[in-house]
Amino acid sequence: MNYYSTRDQKKEFPVSAAQAIKQGLANDGGLFVPECLPTLTKEFLSELCADDYATRAAKMMKLFLADYTYEELLSDCQAAYALESFRGGAAPLCAVGNADLYSLELWHGPTAAFKDMALQIMPRLLSRALKKTGEDRTALILVATSGDTGKAALEGYRDIDQTKMIVFYPVDGVSRVQKLQMATQQGENVRVLAIRGNFDDAQTGVKRIFGDSVVADRLNEGGYLLSSANSINWGRLLPQIVYYVSAWCDLTNGGKLGEGETFNVCVPTGNFGNIFAAYLARRMGLPIGKLICASNKNHVLTDFLRTGTYDRNRAFHLTMSPSMDILISSNLERLLYFTAGPAVTADCMAQLNEKGCYTVTPEVKAEIDRVFVGYYADEDETTTAISKVWNDNGYLSDTHTAVALSCADKYRADAADTAPMVVASTASPYKFANNVYRAVSGKEPTDDLAALDELSAMTGTEIPYPLAGLAERTVRFTDVIDASGMTASVYETLGL
Ligand SMILES: *Cc1c(COP(=O)(O)O)cnc(C)c1O
Repeated sequence: MNYYSTRDQKKEFPVSAAQAIKQGLANDGGLFVPECLPTLTKEFLSELCADDYATRAAKMMKLFLADYTYEELLSDCQAAYALESFRGGAAPLCAVGNADLYSLELWHGPTAAFKDMALQIMPRLLSRALKKTGEDRTALILVATSGDTGKAALEGYRDIDQTKMIVFYPVDGVSRVQKLQMATQQGENVRVLAIRGNFDDAQTGVKRIFGDSVVADRLNEGGYLLSSANSINWGRLLPQIVYYVSAWCDLTNGGKLGEGETFNVCVPTGNFGNIFAAYLARRMGLPIGKLICASNKNHVLTDFLRTGTYDRNRAFHLTMSPSMDILISSNLERLLYFTAGPAVTADCMAQLNEKGCYTVTPEVKAEIDRVFVGYYADEDETTTAISKVWNDNGYLSDTHTAVALSCADKYRADAADTAPMVVASTASPYKFANNVYRAVSGKEPTDDLAALDELSAMTGTEIPYPLAGLAERTVRFTDVIDASGMTASVYETLGL
């Protein structure tokens, strides 16, 4: 199976899976997509039901990675999803109350956020990709993060052979816990830099470096090639398809889903990667009904899904769900490709670049409407969702998951749709303990860090191992730079 750019109108430039993973972004600025989508047959799915998570992942990923052997994938998946890093299981499905509502907990990994699901496996795929493509340069991975990606990428890549990583984050756009997690990162091949600006400034800066041939030449001379770990990389997206299939297996195994019955999925969305993985699972034949795209106060996606116009020209809000504080959802480009084709995609992306907005045709909108529905929750609704689900069901959710819980509720009320609902739970409540504590106790925590202990004492739940003892770790990274200085800092890091 080959991969093409979302903007490659004549399908002129096929690349292998290993090449797509190594390169991250296509040469024309588009995102890599597989040339076709394999079908999930009944037999294949029922086989997966009997497997553990790592085996489900290896079998699913083998469908897309023709140039990797099943044995390679199985050994990588077993290492990535081992119980010692995913101590609460890889993607357990947890019932919330008795209303056929389930939380797909994707945050039991080494950084307590769902990015681990992809970033524990992706460096292993890249490492093999370098060998498979005969590459002797070092892969330089640049990451723009709104908080969780950065830490998960650092943890996934640290001390991985033939790789170096620089993470850029908005200095005032991440929580104190997120900042501490990144600043205390171990590993000889990693560096963390704060940017004066918001997440989009960081992401735009990284994209610009990727598109700059002068930078590429200079890095090449120094023995480096650029690669990305952001969710625009196919190696990030593919592992995310797995857990939706796994959720179906668990619902089926638990007798919650009969033959031919569908379930709905609600995803707290930022860059549109996680929900797009669910869309691919659906297109492959997984019986998903609706995909509910949940946004916070930065509801550019809700507006797009309701009107057909994507418009990033609007105020940017910092919210208590910072990983969703995004105005340019990069993976939406892949949805445009799959619903409207490469010509429309290239045109929309050019418009987005030039004037910050575009409108899809009524036909394309109708196609998207068949699957997606958009809702958003403001800050008050998010707080209410946390306290309500805790009080009614004894289930503690983080701020991002709470946005989705609120949106799932609204959808169910509006659509009178009683199919089982799986909400993607994307972070441990302890990662955003201050706001979660405020919501469940109605009190102010002593400070952001003390909030972890206070939340634990109040709810009788445990602080997950990646977040315990954070204050005692040594801070290694304190630099803050202007967004315009990103390229220079890359050279400086590498000594070029
Ligand atoms: C990254 C992230 C999201 C958004 O996921 P996308 O794939 O960017 O849509 C939601 N919640 C948390 C906690 C995250 O870290």
